[in-house]
Amino acid sequence: MAVVLLLALVWLLAYFRVKLWVWTTVVAMYLGYLTVAGRGNTVAWLLFVLAAFLNVVPLRRVLVSRPLLGLFRKLLPPMSQTEREALEAGTVWWDGELFSGRPDWQKLLAEPAPALTQEEQAFLDGPVEELCLMLDDWKICNELHDLPPEAWKFVKDKGFFGMIIPKEYGGLQFSAMAHSQVIMKISTRSITGAVTVMVPNSLGPAELLLHYGTEQQKDHYLPRLARGAEVPCFALTGPEAGSDAASVPDSGIVCCGTFEGKETLGIRLNWEKRYITLGPVATIIGLAFRLHDPDHLLGDKEDIGITCALVPSKLPGITIGTRHDPLGIPFQNGPTWGKDVFIPIDFIIGGDTMAGQGWRMLMETLATGRGISLPALSTGAGKLTSRAIGAYARIRKQFKLPIGRFEGIEEPLARIGGTTYLMDAARVMTCGAIDQGRKPAVITAIVKYHLTERMRKVVNDGMDVQGGGGIILGPRNFLGRTYQSAPIGITVEGANILTRSMIIFGQGAIRCHPYIQQEMRAAADPDQRQGLALFDRALFGHIGFMISNAARSLFLGMTGGRLVRVPGGPARRYFQKATRLSAAFALTADAALMLLGGNLKRKEKLSGRLADILSNLYLLSAVLKQYEDRHRPQDEWPLVKWACEESLFSIQESFAGLLRNFPNRPAAWLLRLFVFPLGRPLAGPSDRLGHQVAGILLEPSSVRDRLTAGMFLPKSLTEPLGRLDDALPKVIAAEPVEKKLRDAVRAGKLKDQPDARFLEEGVRSGVVTATEAEVLRLALAARAEVIRVDDFPKL
Ligand SMILES: Cc1cc2nc3c(=O)[nH]c(=O)nc-3n(C[C@H](O)[C@H](O)[C@H](O)COP(=O)(O)OP(=O)(O)OC[C@H]3O[C@@H](n4cnc5c(N)ncnc54)[C@H](O)[C@@H]3O)c2cc1C
Repeated sequence: MAVVLLLALVWLLAYFRVKLWVWTTVVAMYLGYLTVAGRGNTVAWLLFVLAAFLNVVPLRRVLVSRPLLGLFRKLLPPMSQTEREALEAGTVWWDGELFSGRPDWQKLLAEPAPALTQEEQAFLDGPVEELCLMLDDWKICNELHDLPPEAWKFVKDKGFFGMIIPKEYGGLQFSAMAHSQVIMKISTRSITGAVTVMVPNSLGPAELLLHYGTEQQKDHYLPRLARGAEVPCFALTGPEAGSDAASVPDSGIVCCGTFEGKETLGIRLNWEKRYITLGPVATIIGLAFRLHDPDHLLGDKEDIGITCALVPSKLPGITIGTRHDPLGIPFQNGPTWGKDVFIPIDFIIGGDTMAGQGWRMLMETLATGRGISLPALSTGAGKLTSRAIGAYARIRKQFKLPIGRFEGIEEPLARIGGTTYLMDAARVMTCGAIDQGRKPAVITAIVKYHLTERMRKVVNDGMDVQGGGGIILGPRNFLGRTYQSAPIGITVEGANILTRSMIIFGQGAIRCHPYIQQEMRAAADPDQRQGLALFDRALFGHIGFMISNAARSLFLGMTGGRLVRVPGGPARRYFQKATRLSAAFALTADAALMLLGGNLKRKEKLSGRLADILSNLYLLSAVLKQYEDRHRPQDEWPLVKWACEESLFSIQESFAGLLRNFPNRPAAWLLRLFVFPLGRPLAGPSDRLGHQVAGILLEPSSVRDRLTAGMFLPKSLTEPLGRLDDALPKVIAAEPVEKKLRDAVRAGKLKDQPDARFLEEGVRSGVVTATEAEVLRLALAARAEVIRVDDFPKL
């Protein structure tokens, strides 16, 4: 009994993360009580006295923390300056809560739901709608291989290139949410159009100038960029520096030279860049290069480091203008070379004081930028697929049934609908965080990676459902180009495999963990005394954190999280399950960091799975927040449920894969006990739930409209989407008529034959009325238009 009581006491203290002195006092009282009751134990008292010494901080520092600090320094992987700058970029937000193992859901729900201003909404309903109408994607991809000149002029004149530029410089000064809505809407019309608008607003010169530019640079360039008088590109990647962009070999040598007839201090540049979006038409190149100062014209250092400058593309020595062909999606993209190009020193973004700060600048801007554009484009693809493929699956019939009614098709339809809901929720929540002034570097990596990956899966599913109609390119094809473009989003702004394996967990563990960054800072502190004091505090906090997470993980695992206090309502159990898995994640992440140390950096399959757990917890949080922000709409429940169950199941499977492959087997067995004390309870979305989600895509409704809100929806029947939206209600209205006819055939009253004659016979024999026949006739005509594909006299 005494042992059970002691265990319960220890568990309670651990669960509630009490301070060390509280532990000591409570255990002392307990041992005292046993002693008074005549059941005292000398060994227990001895152990207690030894442990109680941990409260004597100076002693503890010398006996425990100092040797552990030495060990910790050995375990730390070596880190370059560029790695450190990448790791330190941005801020921590909800990712920190998920890492804590005890996410405060009320805090998340209290975050304001992002909303558009009237001006932003008017821009979406006006110029964006107008631009979409100008973008004939077939013509763009097959004839012009570019946007039409009037679209180029329109985007420049209407300020599309200046969405992030403040009004004082003539820009639109839109929120991240509005920016996202604009890109998303254009992407549902033309990927080429969306990428063209995206780039000047993304990780380009404008963003860098806004944060780091000198007043003079801002005054000169921002108004010109806002009105499209300058077309910018940003050139970082080269043949030898792709994912490892910090290894950029392009060089700038500080020297004196002549610029516009004047002798001036400047930089002689040599570069070879490729894949540069808008490069072929750019008038101004944001260039990243490594700056050297062999003659010490700027200071003591010779290798100054990565630097960003604004280089007018017309300067002598620059070759620009030839194009790459990115999978047939003809946004402007190409290489550029510079040979002995001379620029004045004040062309460095931020002036010469920012020389060598380029990598930090890039990482800081990436920390927000990658959370906006590509997630918007990816969600656009999800919405387009949900709306168009859902309608198509109802309109297209095989074996006398709409293909969407076959269970085999329901499966991809459910994935399309549920995933689109999740993508949209993550997009909106992330934009909301950015609009609140945050720069959540790990979260933006999560949404960039997961939304572009999910776009690829959703569009693949859509292509499978559409069959041949998706494959035959032409003006009638509404998904083929999006399918072709999927790998582009995967590769740019941090290629996905690298983002998953190295950044999400690598950066997450250091930035979001409540103690690791403190421990690292302490280990790097040149002041030994101060370093030891800092390390000691962080270390004991960390130990308490781990003990608590172990207690919580086990208890929450055994109870399925049922006793945790979370927001109420239908989604209550999902909040509880997410809390439970967050505690398990915190425990497992710590165990992996402790047992694998610096090796975890190379164990990308393990860190990738940890990244997936953290990411799915974030995506799940976004779904729950969206559902609560919208005041729990009942008709969205199947989508919410599907997205939650899918995310929870993915988390469980990532844990299973991690534990199965964890190199330290005894630790893996122990962790399994704490993470899955009663086995793996989650099964993912059921077939029945999938049926409900698929059903949402198959007919017009307000929930389907909400799922696909923000898309460009052409009304014209010459447009594939217009034809689908026109045909869907007609086909649904005709279904009872078709049923009457089929029943009549089954009853032997009518002979089965091709559609037109069949109808005439139906009316003549009184099976259907003339009005009903007309309903069916209209549906058949609309369906014929939808299923037609293009052919050409010659290719
Ligand atoms: C259409 C398009 C537009 C672009 N626009 C621009 C632009 O405007 N400006 C610009 O500067 N750049 C641009 N890029 C470049 C883009 O950012 C790079 O393509 C990207 O960084 C990847 O580099 P890479 O293609 O050389 O691939 P590599 O670096 O050779 O990578 C190949 C694969 O290896 C993986 N990988 C690499 N290292 C690791 C690792 N340590 N762990 C796990 N996996 C790893 C990557 O994830 C990738 O899957 C563009 C590229 C394309 C295709």
